[in-house]
Amino acid sequence: MMQEAYKVLEDVFGYTEFRSPQDEVVSSLVAGRDVFVLMPTGGGKSLCYQLPALIRPGVGVVISPLIALMQDQVSALCEVGVRAACINSSMPPGHNREVENLVRRGELELVYIAPERLTLATTIEWLSSTSISLFAIDEAHCVAQWGHDFRSEYLQLSILHERFSHVPRIALTATADSKTQEEIVARLGLQQAAVYISGFDRPNIQYRITQKVNAKQQLLSFIQQEHTSDAGVVYCMSRNKVDSTAKWLSDQGIKALPYHAGLNKDVRQQNQERFLREDGVIIVATIAFGMGIDKPDVRFVAHLDLPKSIEAYYQETGRAGRDGLPSTAWMAYGLEDVIKLKQIMAGSEANEQFKRIEQRKLDSMLGLAEVTSCRRQTLMSYFGEALSDPCGNCDNCLTPVQTWNGTEAARKALSCVYRTGQRFGVVHLINVLRGKQTDKVSQFNHHEVTTFGIGGDLSDAQWRSVYRQLVARGYLSVNFDHGQLFLNDKCRGVLRGEEALELRLDPIVNAQKTRSKQQNNMPIAEENRALWEALRACRKTLAEEQSVPPYVIFHDATLKELLDVKPTTLQEFGAISGVGQKKLDKYGGCFLKAALEHY
Ligand code: ADP
Ligand code: ZN
Repeated sequence: MMQEAYKVLEDVFGYTEFRSPQDEVVSSLVAGRDVFVLMPTGGGKSLCYQLPALIRPGVGVVISPLIALMQDQVSALCEVGVRAACINSSMPPGHNREVENLVRRGELELVYIAPERLTLATTIEWLSSTSISLFAIDEAHCVAQWGHDFRSEYLQLSILHERFSHVPRIALTATADSKTQEEIVARLGLQQAAVYISGFDRPNIQYRITQKVNAKQQLLSFIQQEHTSDAGVVYCMSRNKVDSTAKWLSDQGIKALPYHAGLNKDVRQQNQERFLREDGVIIVATIAFGMGIDKPDVRFVAHLDLPKSIEAYYQETGRAGRDGLPSTAWMAYGLEDVIKLKQIMAGSEANEQFKRIEQRKLDSMLGLAEVTSCRRQTLMSYFGEALSDPCGNCDNCLTPVQTWNGTEAARKALSCVYRTGQRFGVVHLINVLRGKQTDKVSQFNHHEVTTFGIGGDLSDAQWRSVYRQLVARGYLSVNFDHGQLFLNDKCRGVLRGEEALELRLDPIVNAQKTRSKQQNNMPIAEENRALWEALRACRKTLAEEQSVPPYVIFHDATLKELLDVKPTTLQEFGAISGVGQKKLDKYGGCFLKAALEHY
């Protein structure tokens, strides 16, 4: 049986090896067992059901909530010669019926169906009259109310195992903590399923969180120095900021497009299309962007605002580097972020329990932003997965962070909050500490408080760093109204001199120079440059002819391997990872011709 699986892997998908645990998943599923797979983004989930569907008799039914994705997946399958189609509400009338007929006649190997259509009585009826190889429930965390993408239609998927008890089911997700996992198993009736959980780590992503000075300029330098002509996503919290950032980047000569729910639908769709189909487009977006984007060669994800939780951060940054090649998760973070988010939470009208959960999540995110040790270790341990050694591929590993004894400074900062009545924001507090005679200082007679002028030893920036860390670590709280700071019980020890505080020594960030120690982009050797451009041009032409995104023709990883291998025959070309029989027949000649001219 596995022999057949290897043959399909090679002939259809063009890969020689399974990635762990694909082989075990495939073998369980082909043998007719239910399976539950938890694998990080880019781990290779699709193959886990696509390949068994080709081996088992009947049509494989894939349930996916991401309508936008379906068509691309179907195109990619058709490219490798698999008979696949999709059924969803965005398809032209008649299309869905035609697909149903193909399924009835047993002419499809895979059919993708949106959950709300699958559970219609008519769909269940025509499915009952055909042979089904397996059900794949993608993005299975959508069934969990505890999770963050809950879809009520998913609850009805229990019908599958009631109506089709003999058909094996595979549920897949990339985001599920243990509580969500339990919920998925319970709601989908997967108690008997073989469970495969692979590590959450994304070693090809370099995590970096830098101090915010002039965020836009920092972002520009980051892009120019490390990711020129790469595709990337920039996340901002508000629509306004998305618009202004996209415009500013464009003015600087960067191919950047906005994306948020307030844009006209056509514009949004057009921008998304360009991101998928053109090379090197940067999308500036609110978090609305991403679900449904399966582009494998996103080389960086940048955050100009702090996400509300590590789950959100990990999901968003996880959109980088699905193809496994080096990518960067970059964020600019500062005092305003902490204040803004704490303020929003303070004003939330959710119930107390929900607020407490949200608060805890934000605190973990802040912890990640402030940590002085390996970021990846912090991330992994948050997801319950211990990483024994520092990763060597995050900013803290690459440039170790210094700390300083901030006990005295913290005491001054906290007592200044207290002396001024716990009703002022950071700017004023720092003015008082540094003894500045501003209008506000005079207005409130703050030149008479005992903390006036006791902070001349530190700069504005240093005091901001102290306050940021005090808020992030929960010594100070933020008032909803105007972001005024007030003391928490926790600060007693520090004020009384009983608790010592070790603070992060923020490196001095120069907005023009954010280059990391390690070059993270993938430089093409000078002698290969012409060849690389020729291959990309060839891919672009083919992609346009077929109206599919370039990566559906070949991934970057495949073209990169071609640079190394420099095949001279179709047979050599066919041995490259990602080149299956169908693509070799269809495109081999074209690429080989383009390549031979540039060796
Ligand atoms: P996920 O759905 O888990 O995010 P995908 O199924 O999209 O991941 O796969 C991620 C990438 O890995 C794709 O580009 C896919 O072609 C590639 N891939 C999957 N399995 C293998 C394999 N066995 N060998 C090489 N590449 C693979
Ligand atoms: Zn690290």
